[in-house]
Parts: sequence; C-alpha cells; structure tokens
Amino acid sequence: MAIPKPKLRELKEAITALIKGPYTTKFPAAPAIVPEHFRGTPTYVPDDCVGCGACGQVCPAGAITIIDEFRENEGKMVRRIERNWGCCIFCSQCFEYCITGKGIILDKDFDKSTLDTADFIDTHDKELVCCEACGEPITAREHIHWMAEKLGELSFANQSLTVARFEELGLTKKIAPRTERDLERSDFLRILCPNCRASYILSDEWGES
Ligand code: SF4
Ligand code: SF4
Repeated sequence: MAIPKPKLRELKEAITALIKGPYTTKFPAAPAIVPEHFRGTPTYVPDDCVGCGACGQVCPAGAITIIDEFRENEGKMVRRIERNWGCCIFCSQCFEYCITGKGIILDKDFDKSTLDTADFIDTHDKELVCCEACGEPITAREHIHWMAEKLGELSFANQSLTVARFEELGLTKKIAPRTERDLERSDFLRILCPNCRASYILSDEWGES
C-alpha cells in the first residue's frame, strides 16, 4: 500500500513547528505564562472586606458561604465568611460584585492542586451589629460604618447609620443596653432593624404596631 504524500499545508505546519517549537506549554514542569487579563484565583483581602455578604449571594457555585452565629466564648454575634476554592469555577462574579471593589481580587494563580482538601477552605470572621430591640443580626459592623462613610451627610437620614457614624467619629459613648420594655422615643437613636423601627414608628404615630 502506497504511503500518502503530505499535503502542502501539513508540510508547512510541520516545518513551522520544527522551527518555532510546540504550542503547548511545559506546565507543570515549568510555570505557565498567562495573559495580562487572565482570570485566576479569587483572593480574599480581609482589610478591604466589610463583611456585607454580597459575594456569597452572587457565587453561582456555592463556593462562598455566609454564616451568622453567636459565639458563646466571645459573647457576640459573628459573621463567618467561608470560601471553598475546591468548588470555585473561576467565574469572577464575587470580584465583579464586591461592594468595596477590593475585598476580592483575581490573581494569576490557577494551580490549586493539593493532597489535602482542607487547603481549599479559607475562613474569616466579621463582627455583627444586631438590632438593639429584637437582637436579630443586621449586618457586619464594618459594613454599616462603610455605608455611613459612603453616604456622607445623607447617612443622617437614617438613625442607625447616624449612630454608626457618631460611633466612628468618636462622638458617642457606649450606649447602655436597652432594658426589657417597649420601645420609646429615647430609643429612636439606637441601632434597630427595619422591622423594629417600623413597628416603633407605627405605634408612636398611631398607637399600634
Ligand atoms: S469566582 Fe465565581 S465560583 Fe469562584 S468564588 Fe467567585 S463567584 Fe464563586
Ligand atoms: S466586601 Fe466584598 S469580599 Fe467582603 S463580603 Fe462584601 S462582597 Fe464579599
């Protein structure tokens, strides 16, 4: 049987490959050079994260979990932000929707191979602010301060943000905890969740909640 002669195009490609070398990289024997806008591992930057939880809401792969829990030993509510890079699909939604724009950055690393899956888990805590009436968590303390800062003078239209702003500026002393009684006007300038504030305003204006 006669061996078919190579076509001209195949011959050209073979000669080009001989001169220029293969298109494939030497990875993992040598690091791969990635393009400038390569979408690599989302890397968490704790100092630039305010703990809002938006990244956990937009992650389509469920790689980011937000857990609000009471820590007995610390005596406070804490938001635990847990990232499992083993589930990450490198879509970059967490980076795109991070409210500070800096809490998660994409680096050029893509090789996450490991022999221990625990290496994939990355956890950080943020202190939570809770409603002073019902105790329900509102958001992370850093988040409320970030909102107050972002809104500037507009933050004074919201009493909870006003308290947070005064707190940050050092204009308030620690407010005494609210005692077990119905909300009254003196409680208006406290950090309250939307439900408790609305219920207080209704009862103050119309005598019912
Ligand atoms: S890159 Fe995509 S899949 Fe990975 S953690 Fe961010 S949002 Fe989730
Ligand atoms: S600030 Fe950014 S990184 Fe931090 S919880 Fe919010 S979206 Fe996620």
